[in-house]
Amino acid sequence: MLYLVSTPIGNLRDMTLRALEVLKEVDLIAAEDTRHTRILLDHYDIKTLVTSYFEHNEEKKTIELLQYLKEGKTIALVSDAGTPGISDPGYPLIRAVKSQGIPLTVVPGPTALIAALSISGLPAHSFIFEGFLPVRGSARRKKLESLKNEVRTLIFYESPHRLVKTLSDMKEIWNDPVVVCVRELTKKFEEVRTAKASDLLEHFTRQSPRGEFVLLVSLRSLGMKRLERS
Ligand code: SAM
Repeated sequence: MLYLVSTPIGNLRDMTLRALEVLKEVDLIAAEDTRHTRILLDHYDIKTLVTSYFEHNEEKKTIELLQYLKEGKTIALVSDAGTPGISDPGYPLIRAVKSQGIPLTVVPGPTALIAALSISGLPAHSFIFEGFLPVRGSARRKKLESLKNEVRTLIFYESPHRLVKTLSDMKEIWNDPVVVCVRELTKKFEEVRTAKASDLLEHFTRQSPRGEFVLLVSLRSLGMKRLERS
């Protein structure tokens, strides 16, 4: 059995009882970064064996982990934060486990995109998660261009180093939309700023971006149009 276990996105107490139980009981934990996961395991006094499963060893490691599962052992897959496979390693293993008929189950919990959507105040009945935008400027702008007529709420992960560039592209390509900028959820400096891209740009030029960010935009929402006019 492979368990997909969500872990906190900041606050270590955002662990479900079932996640704790599973991490204690499995034969092996496959973690994106063993040192990072060790902090969580130590906090909960979990002594289970940990192995690494990260972006650059995913394919090779999948073969090893499959063998382990076929021997009847249990594995929990975790990432550094949130839900494995969501802009994080996991897909090759999950796909292989499914195709070989090995039992697979999920232990749901935090994920930054849903936490950000729920706190954003934007329409949440229909949305698109785009993960990280392309790093290259031309590809990023092309992607934003392709989303110009989207009616659903758009959700992006963004790194602090690229935040200003992304806001600047959104301003230009989407005609200065209102952006909900969600930062450091569940942590000490949790913050939600809802403002036009140009105002956010001004803010982050004065104060350089720090921490983890989710950007949300509703290009066609009535509520946002009213805010834009005010
Ligand atoms: N698997 C994770 C999940 O389920 O949310 C996402 C992993 S992805 C590599 C990391 C990105 O998620 C960050 O760059 C940021 O965009 C977002 N993120 C993670 N934790 C966050 C937090 N506490 N507050 C805001 N955004 C967060």
